[in-house]
Amino acid sequence: MAGPVGAVVLLSSEEFIAGVEEVASRFDAATYPQRELPADDWAVLTAAGVLLPVLPAEYGGRDSHVEMCRVVEVLAEQNLAVAVYTAIVTGLALRPVVRWAGEEARREILPRFAGVRAPAAGFASTEPGCGSAMSGLTTVFEEVQGGYRIRGRKHWQALSATASWWVVVAKREGDGGREYACFLMERGDGFRTAQRYEALGLKVIDYGINDIDAFVPAHRRLDAGAGNLSSMVDIYLAGRALIGALAFGFLNRIAREARAYADARVIGRAPLSAIGFVRHRLGAIDSARTVCAALNHYVRTALDLRTDLTPAFPAIQAVKTVATELMVSCANHYQQLAGGEGYRSDSPTNIAAQAFLDSRVFTVFDGTNDLLSQQLAQYCVDSSDGLVLSAFLAVWAPTAPAVSAHGYDLRFLDRELRQEHSVLAGRVIAYVFAAARVLEWAAETGADANRARTAAEFLTADIDRVRVEFDLLDRLTANG
Ligand SMILES: Cc1cc2nc3c(=O)[nH]c(=O)nc-3n(C[C@H](O)[C@H](O)[C@H](O)COP(=O)(O)OP(=O)(O)OC[C@H]3O[C@@H](n4cnc5c(N)ncnc54)[C@H](O)[C@@H]3O)c2cc1C
Repeated sequence: MAGPVGAVVLLSSEEFIAGVEEVASRFDAATYPQRELPADDWAVLTAAGVLLPVLPAEYGGRDSHVEMCRVVEVLAEQNLAVAVYTAIVTGLALRPVVRWAGEEARREILPRFAGVRAPAAGFASTEPGCGSAMSGLTTVFEEVQGGYRIRGRKHWQALSATASWWVVVAKREGDGGREYACFLMERGDGFRTAQRYEALGLKVIDYGINDIDAFVPAHRRLDAGAGNLSSMVDIYLAGRALIGALAFGFLNRIAREARAYADARVIGRAPLSAIGFVRHRLGAIDSARTVCAALNHYVRTALDLRTDLTPAFPAIQAVKTVATELMVSCANHYQQLAGGEGYRSDSPTNIAAQAFLDSRVFTVFDGTNDLLSQQLAQYCVDSSDGLVLSAFLAVWAPTAPAVSAHGYDLRFLDRELRQEHSVLAGRVIAYVFAAARVLEWAAETGADANRARTAAEFLTADIDRVRVEFDLLDRLTANG
């Protein structure tokens, strides 16, 4: 392929990432306008090759899992919303095409995304009546001559009014029961944005309600899963895994800016950072950054987004829930440290207000954290093979190293788990998983042992807080 993106394909990985870093700096959250990303700015990013890592080499791509992660990490450090924009197109929209489309659809679609002015693409699953429980999906497909007719209403899709291509999830009720499937459609096939939403943050991305009444040719049905929702879980996992990389980039920025703000701001005669509790908040941010460094390391080295992620289902649920919880809590710490200045959306001294608004939704989208925690606990209970949960976590590979290294006493989990307990138990499992990743990261990267120890202490405190919450639930139940 000729042109700048063609040249980008030939760069070494270091050169490629350096080019993305250079371009990313133009989107610095401190100065970049809070508005929908103009097509010309998207073209700046696509010309730097941000979509190339997800594309196979035969379609002009760089075909690299590590670079997919690095790109969103680098972008998130400059501008969280731009990183989300890119992760949607790569992880949620193009990856399904690469993994499950037939040759005809791949040839039709993928080369367009390897060009300098690549379009945007989105993923349409959520509907006004169904977000968490996908069994309530009402968008339907039926077989017609030459393909499928798809009808329904979706909402909250990132890039609702601006993406040209869509991966759409739909269902069919037949004699053999309910069948779910994914289809690739172009906006012109019958994807119409009926209403725009005004989101609180992530302003570079547009959202809305989307009405679908489309004919899709047969070759654009994806061969994903066996028709049921559990076999299609892989399609949802890449976006969640990428959040590990994205959180690390974001927290690099927050940790740096919060410390700089606390050093520069004078309270009385001393800097803000001389106050003990301020230092504690900064320590919490640093520790969260360490945990996300470990989660990011895990996503980069233990996963491959180009393959089936289903076996990593519990690990990815843990990465998503812990990383996003830490993003929100660090944005909160930073905003608190910045005082009144942190409540100004255009403050010249900090980006706390925007960081808070942009990060808040991370515990909600891509699977709401409460549901993902419940699913994680259920997965462990189902896999425990007769063991009580604490005994299972002591031998299960993703958590065992942390249980033995830190001597966690998790026997409070060994009981009948009502729904509310399951959500909390899932959080504990995710914290223990994260503590194990911190150990692994420290051992594999030779990171500062003190940093790892401090991060482990914060995770232990998180586990202890859940233990207290279990007790609270019991007292509330006993009190009627
Ligand atoms: C900014 C943004 C971007 C988005 N991008 C996309 C996109 O690109 N494509 C797309 O298809 N969708 C997208 N979504 C939709 C998103 O994935 C859903 O909003 C999310 O899955 C939650 O669904 P819901 O809004 O219907 O909430 P509900 O299902 O109504 O849930 C509301 C709340 O109920 C609680 N809850 C639900 N289930 C449980 C449980 N089992 N245990 C405990 N508590 C529970 C949780 O607190 C949850 O947040 C986006 C949403 C937002 C806000």
